[in-house]
Amino acid sequence: MARTTQLFELQQVDSQSDELLRRALAIRHALDETDSLRSARERHAAAVAALTTAQERLLVLSREVDEMSAHLALQSKRLYDGSIKNPKELVAIEHDVTSTKNLRSAREDVMLEAMDAVDQVQAAVDGAARDLEVAETEWQRNQDGLLEEKDTLDGQLRVLRTRREKMVAGIAWTDLQLYEKLRKAKHGTAIAGLENDVCQACRVTVPGGTLRTVKQGQEFVYCPSCARVLHPGARGDLVRW
Ligand SMILES: [Zn+2]
Repeated sequence: MARTTQLFELQQVDSQSDELLRRALAIRHALDETDSLRSARERHAAAVAALTTAQERLLVLSREVDEMSAHLALQSKRLYDGSIKNPKELVAIEHDVTSTKNLRSAREDVMLEAMDAVDQVQAAVDGAARDLEVAETEWQRNQDGLLEEKDTLDGQLRVLRTRREKMVAGIAWTDLQLYEKLRKAKHGTAIAGLENDVCQACRVTVPGGTLRTVKQGQEFVYCPSCARVLHPGARGDLVRW
């Protein structure tokens, strides 16, 4: 096999691998949580946190009201059970009962507002939970397809790797060095095919004299425009699934 053909076929395998690797990388990114799922999860967590705060506030208020009620029950008992004889003390207790009742009534109003707040936040939590479920279902459906594609890609990449190892074993070391160096310098494409006398890498028509040398296939001929090694064929036949 001509030296350029060996490298050209290696190029087909490498270009195909590069493409598959790019897709594999995109899949890996897509397998992470999507922005919409992440934001649905954040909204739900924020709503749950707000609900906890509202419930805690309601609990504090209801304990305050309970304490006032217990205090009132005690003071009322003292007023009427005849245990206190001192009229001044009785008047003081009456005052205390009246002011505690007022205070409790005000606290109960605040407690009602807090109950409303809990209901509202609970509704927000329910809404956020529904949104999150939709986002998770959508994401999961997408994941299944991606995982399948990733499996296929991994298999194809394994095949290409094996193929490459066999090819490399038959290529002269100096040719391989040249190829790797060019591939690094030329965005992955070291060997360019020719189609209708046009370099397939840079799309520039190659002059006749150069073309003849390329077609003989005995030595490396560089594209005068992009400086890649030219190969007389346009496509390799190796990469097929
Ligand atoms: Zn070119």
